[in-house]
Amino acid sequence: MNKRTFLKLCSAAAASRFVSPVLGAESKEKLTNWAGNLEYGTEQLTPATSEAEVQQFVKEHRNFKVLGTRHCFNDIADSRNAFLSLKPQGRVVTLDKTARTVTIEAGMTYGQLAPYLHQNGFALHNLASLPHISVAGACSTATHGSGEKNGNLSTAVSALEIVLASGEVRTLSRAKDGETFKGAVVGLGALGVITKITLDLQPTFMMQQWVYQDLPFDQLTKNFDAIEGAGYSVSLFTDWRKPLINEVWLKCRMDAEHKFRAEPEFYGGRLATRNLHPIIELSAENCTEQMGVPGPWYERLPHFRMGFTPSAGKELQSEYFVPREHALDAILAVSRLNEMVSPHLLITEIRTIAADDLWMSTCYQRPSVTIHFTWKQDWPAVSKVLPVIERELTPFKVRPHWAKLFTIPPDQLRAKYDQLPEFVKLCTQFDPQGKFRNSFLNRNIFAA
Ligand SMILES: Cc1cc2nc3c(=O)[nH]c(=O)nc-3n(C[C@H](O)[C@H](O)[C@H](O)COP(=O)(O)OP(=O)(O)OC[C@H]3O[C@@H](n4cnc5c(N)ncnc54)[C@H](O)[C@@H]3O)c2cc1C
Repeated sequence: MNKRTFLKLCSAAAASRFVSPVLGAESKEKLTNWAGNLEYGTEQLTPATSEAEVQQFVKEHRNFKVLGTRHCFNDIADSRNAFLSLKPQGRVVTLDKTARTVTIEAGMTYGQLAPYLHQNGFALHNLASLPHISVAGACSTATHGSGEKNGNLSTAVSALEIVLASGEVRTLSRAKDGETFKGAVVGLGALGVITKITLDLQPTFMMQQWVYQDLPFDQLTKNFDAIEGAGYSVSLFTDWRKPLINEVWLKCRMDAEHKFRAEPEFYGGRLATRNLHPIIELSAENCTEQMGVPGPWYERLPHFRMGFTPSAGKELQSEYFVPREHALDAILAVSRLNEMVSPHLLITEIRTIAADDLWMSTCYQRPSVTIHFTWKQDWPAVSKVLPVIERELTPFKVRPHWAKLFTIPPDQLRAKYDQLPEFVKLCTQFDPQGKFRNSFLNRNIFAA
């Protein structure tokens, strides 16, 4: 099936308003992840309305997983036994205006939190491409946005409250818990049930978003740093079919020291004259406002609007992180695979992320560039392409996104994280019997 036919089939759904399927043990529908590519191993899903209910559930169950908003593409959140949902716990606990932090219940999504923060004069430093995801699930998997000076979303976490396997409630903070805290933030769901999260804030800010089309590849290779540095958050979209970046999305702060002036041309790319979807064939109705229209940070940093289907809907995703110094070599290596990649691809996105010190973060101790793939939902085909991309990116110390599809063998994956042995020790300390483990964690982290 070609890209246009595939998109015709799924565009009706993609352009419609996003309706979250009703979840629950009583639901007749099979419980799946958001993309529908993974049917979970059980339909037993229990909502917890309080921390006491979480503690009771933890004590009563031998093995289970917490489900956030189900946006992972692989089986990191899956369970064969039981799920706990914190969806009913989605309130702000405290907004500390002096310390510039907010503490929230772990069922909250960025889409719920962001307007509240803006109304109170505050902002987060960054957001992912969509606001629909839970803060706890996103931070547990090192979810990121773009911007070479912006760490991933987990870097905003300054404290966590976690129910451990024993049912004990443990508070961990950046200020008091040093290395343990660094190990716990990107916890991959393996340490316990996060019930509260505290995030760093900054004063709210306004942004403008511009899109440029058809920026030639040779301009990218000559001017990569300047292009990436042109905005607060920059995304490059390509389908690799021509030596072009199909769309450059520049998200610029209006309070920036050097304000971006949108000229008709940007390194050979031309300024778009209407709002665009990253997949140009799809309606931009689902996308955040472009064309330089000013708006608050939370309506410009994501690509997709709350209340609408993000991305294409029926799709698969993979994403690979390489250290910033290998960015161009890695991009060129993928571009050489275009004939193999393009037939199965909806779009690629290239983003930058600052380094951090969170043990299991994909950007641990290295400023990174990510090469993301939104695939057609054809796992047999995609599963043949991934090992080739991974092989080509191996010389560049590639790490895969924890929440997306990859085929890197577990022993190679483990070797990519220096702090993995310490992380395993921390997991064993918090969860000696493996209550929070599942097949993804056993395979990739614990080598069981
Ligand atoms: C359309 C789309 C666009 C995306 N865009 C981006 C992007 O721009 N950048 C990016 O980096 N990623 C992106 N992702 C991936 C997404 O950010 C991750 O999948 C993220 O983990 C989603 O959070 P969730 O709550 O839906 O996760 P879930 O799949 O529900 O859970 C993820 C993990 O977190 C654990 N978890 C969840 N809640 C808790 C809790 N309270 N306590 C302990 N563990 C918990 C789960 O057990 C699981 O291990 C995108 C995904 C989709 C579908």
